[in-house]
Amino acid sequence: MKIPNQAESYSTSSIILENTFQGIRQLAKNEQLAELIFSESQNAIMITDRCNRIIDVNAAFERITGYTRREVLHHNPNFLSSGRHTRAFYRDMWQSLVEQGKWRGELVNRRKDGELLPELLSLFLLRDGKGDITHHVAIFSDLTRLKKHAEELHLASHFDALTLLPNRHQMLRRIREAISEASPQTTFAVCVLDLDNFQQLNRQLGHRAADNVLIAIAEKLRERVGTQGDVARIGGDEFALLLHDVDSGDDQLQQMTESFLLEGFTATPLVIKASMGVTLFPLDNADPDTLLRHADQAMYQAKLQGGNTFAFFDPDHEQKLKDQQAVREDITHAIKAGEFELHFQPQVDTQSQRLLGAEALIRWHHPKRGLVMPDQFLPQISGTEIELALDTWVLNAALDQLSKWHADGLMISVSINATPQSIVRESFYKTLLQALTAHPSLAPQFICIEVLESVALDDLSAATSMLNRLREIGLQVALDDFGTGYSSLSYLRNLPVDLVKIDRSFVMTMLESAQDLAIVESVTYLAKRFGKGVVAEGVESCAHIDKLKLIGCDVVQGYGVAKPMPAEELFAWSQTAGLPSGLMKNLPLT
Ligand code: C2E
Ligand code: CA
Ligand code: CA
Repeated sequence: MKIPNQAESYSTSSIILENTFQGIRQLAKNEQLAELIFSESQNAIMITDRCNRIIDVNAAFERITGYTRREVLHHNPNFLSSGRHTRAFYRDMWQSLVEQGKWRGELVNRRKDGELLPELLSLFLLRDGKGDITHHVAIFSDLTRLKKHAEELHLASHFDALTLLPNRHQMLRRIREAISEASPQTTFAVCVLDLDNFQQLNRQLGHRAADNVLIAIAEKLRERVGTQGDVARIGGDEFALLLHDVDSGDDQLQQMTESFLLEGFTATPLVIKASMGVTLFPLDNADPDTLLRHADQAMYQAKLQGGNTFAFFDPDHEQKLKDQQAVREDITHAIKAGEFELHFQPQVDTQSQRLLGAEALIRWHHPKRGLVMPDQFLPQISGTEIELALDTWVLNAALDQLSKWHADGLMISVSINATPQSIVRESFYKTLLQALTAHPSLAPQFICIEVLESVALDDLSAATSMLNRLREIGLQVALDDFGTGYSSLSYLRNLPVDLVKIDRSFVMTMLESAQDLAIVESVTYLAKRFGKGVVAEGVESCAHIDKLKLIGCDVVQGYGVAKPMPAEELFAWSQTAGLPSGLMKNLPLT
């Protein structure tokens, strides 16, 4: 999907300025132009003479540093120094300036009011015909907002705002650390603890008091776990525990599920019971995600046993393998029997209100089970050959459909999900080329491949090079479910993607949760700063759309626009303006 990219001009403005400035001497005739650039630039510009005394600064300099022009004239710029850098840092900077005539990098200075000023700085040395230094020119932009957003994103995506416990992502990280530090003698338990009848309590006490109950329980859990492990809040009334040096006979586990007695909420102390699922590493020798999922499954067993107890996950590999084998055979058969279908969910431009594209989402019409959603069969084939076969089927089916739409005059794009395992495989790339060859009339920029951040985990350079190859043949690449994985600023900056899709778990709740709103705002801000388009998914209402528009999000996708639908319905939908009032006012969709 091609998005009008206002961000490009944003992030490249300082480069344009640099180039412009180099050209200023040639443009000396055109002093008016130089003057205009100097006075109107959003970046601070400071010019010093050959002895490095300030001879001019522009308005942006005054705004960013807080010093007036009059205050700084004839001074050496070292009054801006924050003391944050070593002598060696400045020495290297000057050396490169003298040798190469320029230097570019990040630096922390200090404003007049004492605040630190992180800046992206470009320095240039100008020389006369004889090679003697005549001027130094410094051009810098203020990185304060960028840094602040990056910090907020880190905080918001690692901690739960209500209880201040680490959140799910953070717990996954700690489990990963525990695995990597484990010696052959190490055992630890991953547990999921869920309060019994919390919904009922919520109704009885009201939302606010129920929140306080959660805070109190978080505190008690933290005390119970002590220095033996970690506690995180991973859902409404769901907590995850990582307990070191625990085996199945340990009464530590028993202690965790003892009833919680809370004073001060009701006339008599409130008794809260909980159910807990436990899985033991290395008996269950799985990755962090799977360990949590196993503990969650065991927690349901504890609930089934009547609650207020704990149950172990049974890593009955034999059975699991048999089940997986059966699913694989089923799916191989289903591909041949034509039991799969793609549904499509519209993606709409928030500004122009046009239908830009649709995400292809797979559905399985199972002869016995009826309509089966992807979450119920994709995880079982993760990392297997059959997964690649299914991805290939999806690719071809999506391109077939796109060709039909284009032939019918519906010039939209299609987004295709690719699993991290298949995307890096040469065979996937080949399949893609074949599919493109089979549809010569399709322009590649109408095809967007959605990948998860975890694609970068195993082999960052392999992922980067494959994504680059996709983009070289003209495809768009989107980073899916952003915010749930590692929310890493470096992935956002370094992975070669055109678009960032903010995960629906944040978007759906952004109107009620200040924390989730902060994540949506920060991801949007950062993505734009890095020159990427932003798609919000899980947009459930007009109020969401209005807010996202304000935040500057480019594209929306979600039940509030339309649910995923069969291809024929999408065509009809695009013709009848089935969009929510408020978003669409008699505007043609395409
Ligand atoms: P995803 O890529 O994040 O896809 C978006 C999911 O969010 C879809 O679920 C969609 O129906 C749902 N959704 C969209 N708007 C809303 C909303 O406003 N509220 C809520 N609550 N949900 C919304 P679906 O179709 O069940 O797909 C689930 C996941 O399965 C997808 O998540 C994707 O990871 C995977 N998947 C689906 N189709 C394919 C496929 O063809 N290939 C691969 N590799 N993965 C697929
Ligand atoms: Ca997706
Ligand atoms: Ca997604």
